[in-house]
Amino acid sequence: MTQLRVILIKPSKYGVDGSVERFKKGFLPNATLYHIAALTPARIGDVPVTVHLVDEYVWQDLDYLRWLHQDPDVTTLVALVGVQSHQFHRALDLAAYARHHGVRHCVIGGPHAMTCDTSLLQGRGVSFAMAEAELIWQQILDDALAGELRPLYGLSRRWAEQLPGTVIDPPSTADLARYTAPMLGLYPVRGCPYKCNFCSVIKISGRQVRSPNIESTLESLRRAKRGGVEMIMFVSDNFNKFPNIRELLQAMIDERFGLRFFCQCDTQIAKDPELVELLGRAGCCEMFVGVESFNRKTLKAAGKHHNHPEQYVEIIRLCNQAAIRPHFSNIIGFPNDDEAEIRHHLNALKELRPTVASFFVLTPIPGTEQYDDFRKAGWITERNLDRFDGTCPTWSHPILSAKQLEDLLYHCYVSYYGFLLKTGGLSNEEQRMAVYQRYTAAQRMHPMAGGVDPLRVDTAADYAALRRAAYDIDLVPLPDSLSLSGKDEALNRRIDWRVQRPVEHATL
Ligand code: SF4
Repeated sequence: MTQLRVILIKPSKYGVDGSVERFKKGFLPNATLYHIAALTPARIGDVPVTVHLVDEYVWQDLDYLRWLHQDPDVTTLVALVGVQSHQFHRALDLAAYARHHGVRHCVIGGPHAMTCDTSLLQGRGVSFAMAEAELIWQQILDDALAGELRPLYGLSRRWAEQLPGTVIDPPSTADLARYTAPMLGLYPVRGCPYKCNFCSVIKISGRQVRSPNIESTLESLRRAKRGGVEMIMFVSDNFNKFPNIRELLQAMIDERFGLRFFCQCDTQIAKDPELVELLGRAGCCEMFVGVESFNRKTLKAAGKHHNHPEQYVEIIRLCNQAAIRPHFSNIIGFPNDDEAEIRHHLNALKELRPTVASFFVLTPIPGTEQYDDFRKAGWITERNLDRFDGTCPTWSHPILSAKQLEDLLYHCYVSYYGFLLKTGGLSNEEQRMAVYQRYTAAQRMHPMAGGVDPLRVDTAADYAALRRAAYDIDLVPLPDSLSLSGKDEALNRRIDWRVQRPVEHATL
């Protein structure tokens, strides 16, 4: 064999109408695709390796499906990466399509395979990656070249203790043009020390905060700048828990990158004015904060003890002072929420007036503690994994009907952005964003679905026969969550609270 051809695909999902969700322009570049591309060597021994990248959300035609046909002159490996539960059916269908067209090596990785039991689907020609790519990717490449993948990779542990420095190359000019701005996603730190019961991050990345040296991130930023990237999305959860954040930000200031960036912080950022100021000087233009609820009892019941609603106002103040757009993420439909509580939440938010607010319906994501609890209680009503994306009711709420929840979700968007537009003070860009959010929600489409101008190109029905033939199912049954291995449990126990600045720890 003269070549290894690696096709990396971030699968989209099937929408409520069955179509594969695609957009003319995407909001968020997929960081996993470029990260795994960077982990892929240009040669293995004498064999050259070529890599093709596809983010299905922003791919407007089906041309890439031709890469999923076996070419007798090369070894083809199809890897479905970063697959979440709501993208799992789509990933299975793409793997079935590739197998049907003669590709022998297909692997599915990402949150679902890492955290959920896939045994029903094993041994059917598709492999599952249950660990971080750093631990298993080279083995997968070697096995593909040697002629056979193993059914499972990474069974003994999910997480690498140390993360190597990985320099990410920016997308091509053509791929950058697929998004609303030339953007690159980077993941300079992984893990979160907290224990929110609805959170999948701690199951996917662990509670130990791990990061490579900052030089690899700086080199990725240099390449991004040279490659025409204008905006960086630091997709790490809780960027403020990154032990080397100050060093990284200062280096970005010193090197005058001039790149704007988005980051996510937890609410404890309220107690770190110097860091907010430094973030602003380094180019942060938007800070996403998971406030979730204004009800302290609700937050405590969800295990989000570090959120204190009375501190939210300080986050807004610090962000405004540093010229950073505060983006508050809200969850509606916690078990104790009723309509009055959600309306109260909306009013409290309007008083604080973050420039951006997103709303999601509480969703028991497979693999999480909450999913296990809700399932045990018999509360989960939805049977289709496609719906577990934070925008659909999936369980039987004790007070609110599914219709009420959905109505309230879109009402929150329409009402909040109507309020922002009416009260003024937005920049032109913010105004455009607010109009878009209000308009999309009024059409009962979730504004955070992934992009603008949805396209209908293909549907689940086009792949239904393939799915049935390959896996003997129409829908994947709701899976059991996987428990952690002893090694992963041990890593979780090694949290260094001093480094991770749990300002709230004393107040639990
Ligand atoms: S703070 Fe955020 S990332 Fe951390 S456990 Fe809670 S929801 Fe997950």
